[in-house]
Amino acid sequence: MNLAELTTLRLGGPARAVIDATTEEHLVEVVRVADEAGDPLLLVGGGSNLVVADGGVDGTVVRVLTRGIAQDADLCSGAMVTVAAGEPWDGLVARAVAEGWVGIEALSGIPGSTGATPIQNVGAYGQEVSQTIASVRTYDRYDRRIRTYAASECGFAYRHSWFKAEPQRHVVLSVTFQLALGDLGAPVAYAELARTLGIAVGERAPAVDVREAVLSLRQAKGMVLDPSDHDSWSAGSFFTNPFLSPEQAAALPADAPRFDQSDGSVKTSAAWLIDHAGFAKGHGTGAVSLSTKHTLALTNRGTGTTAELLALAREVRDGVERTYGITLVNEPVLVGCEL
Ligand SMILES: Cc1cc2nc3c(=O)[nH]c(=O)nc-3n(C[C@H](O)[C@H](O)[C@H](O)COP(=O)(O)OP(=O)(O)OC[C@H]3O[C@@H](n4cnc5c(N)ncnc54)[C@H](O)[C@@H]3O)c2cc1C
Repeated sequence: MNLAELTTLRLGGPARAVIDATTEEHLVEVVRVADEAGDPLLLVGGGSNLVVADGGVDGTVVRVLTRGIAQDADLCSGAMVTVAAGEPWDGLVARAVAEGWVGIEALSGIPGSTGATPIQNVGAYGQEVSQTIASVRTYDRYDRRIRTYAASECGFAYRHSWFKAEPQRHVVLSVTFQLALGDLGAPVAYAELARTLGIAVGERAPAVDVREAVLSLRQAKGMVLDPSDHDSWSAGSFFTNPFLSPEQAAALPADAPRFDQSDGSVKTSAAWLIDHAGFAKGHGTGAVSLSTKHTLALTNRGTGTTAELLALAREVRDGVERTYGITLVNEPVLVGCEL
């Protein structure tokens, strides 16, 4: 099977073998056996954050297809919800909104599996999973045992965690969320979302409205998977937003976005940098291009290859570096290839 069939970019060559793990026991066993045999392994959830080489994967691909959502208890502090790694993320968000579990509604429409969300601390529209994750249960491939990490032990940061820092080590088995109870979503922290809902930043709206607003904002940017929309044949945002020193930030043009961080750094917008370095929406070769709706997504127009996609990524990264002296860093995981 080609990885193109397993990734949202629809790119990537063959794997030596593909194994579907539908139970936690099977998942752990498959990983253990491969590790003992010294067989390289690639875990795949929804394939929505993966760029795989045209030459494919020299090893075994394990698809994480475990299922199960268990509400442990109704505490006064909220619902403790334990979710198997293979559960589709957006299905969980839809369920949360229906059940009155608050705190992940702004993460509506993000593709992929729940087990992958702690890895890059998935975030959008003012929420990050680190705000609601209570713990992450993993199989530790180094120590060959199952471990549970409290959120405070996960090293969560912007699009980062210790799971991402040691990519060969952890198989996420399940994630436990602590979610407040109610019909109103969490206070809205993102200006565009607040505007769409007709409220001020910091105010709250019904979670069902937040979900709807986020889905429509995302759709307009090609950030909801749609087989008929090539703008969504992507890995989402290709580059992370850079964090700059105050001096670097001061050197940017006056109209560049600047968000002061508590550690003194300044976050700017990768999409703005790309756009203002001369790469407009749709820029590309025909086979691969920037999304026609959003400069931050690199897309396969149907006949592209990973080599072409990476060439486009390099062109954009180098152009931004020449113009602003800022080196963009890729967000998706690169397998068998590099930028
Ligand atoms: C249209 C679109 C929009 C997106 N929007 C956003 C967004 O708004 N915010 C955001 O943060 N991301 C976004 N993404 C990126 C992506 O959806 C998320 O990173 C998602 O969490 C990836 O999940 P996945 O199951 O598809 O992971 P995969 O792509 O299958 O895997 C990603 C990485 O995680 C590893 N992995 C997967 N499952 C496990 C597991 N159980 N244990 C250990 N390692 C594992 C893989 O080996 C790989 O290294 C978007 C992507 C697309 C295509």
